[in-house]
Amino acid sequence: MTTDFADRLHVVQARIRAAEQRFRRLPGSVKLLAVSKTRPAAAIAAMAAAGQRCFGENYPQEALDKIIELAALGLEWHFIGPVQANKTRSIAERFAWVHSVDRLKIAERLSAQRPAALPPLNVCLQVNIDREATKHGLDEADLATVAEAVAALPRLRLRGLMAIPAPTLDFAAQRRPLARLREGWERLNAEGLALDTLSMGMSDDLEAAIAEGATLVRVGAALFGPRG
Ligand SMILES: *Cc1c(COP(=O)(O)O)cnc(C)c1O
Repeated sequence: MTTDFADRLHVVQARIRAAEQRFRRLPGSVKLLAVSKTRPAAAIAAMAAAGQRCFGENYPQEALDKIIELAALGLEWHFIGPVQANKTRSIAERFAWVHSVDRLKIAERLSAQRPAALPPLNVCLQVNIDREATKHGLDEADLATVAEAVAALPRLRLRGLMAIPAPTLDFAAQRRPLARLREGWERLNAEGLALDTLSMGMSDDLEAAIAEGATLVRVGAALFGPRG
């Protein structure tokens, strides 16, 4: 079982390296986040034993149980699911990153609740890049205003943007919304925000995302197998 995880990790790492090379990205410039939602702690421990350090979770209660169980491994935990206002405290206390901030109110709560003993919480703003794909995410029209307000919050560090485009297996169609997210990110950087993270790309579109400038891909099924 542990070797299966190691094999799949090596396959995904090889896909990332190949895409970096093909699209003239710097070697090692794309980070892999292993999406472990619905996977048991034992599967995460096996992936960690194979060398993976960063894991993404979508559901607060499920995540907290695993974070506590695996605390000794020193893993880096990223929250990537919808953030409900009544769950911000546990997220602010237990995670290093939140990729799915889609309202100023949520950012304000996370900043207020981030424990003083921890470094600032790294956040990305989730953008609704492709309106039919998800009801979550900021409208592109509101992005600049919200980004400036979030960047000013004391206990958050605004790192970049995240999106989940509508699934398609056509490479050119995959690239279009990802290119729009990159352009939005470039505009914010031109306005002085110093963002270093473009969180886009999953099991089926990571090559398109790397072509369009992703710095972090969030991969579940290709690492852990299909979700039941
Ligand atoms: C589940 C999930 C992923 C991973 O998707 P796969 O298709 O399993 O690679 C990535 N990002 C988010 C936000 C997810 O919820």
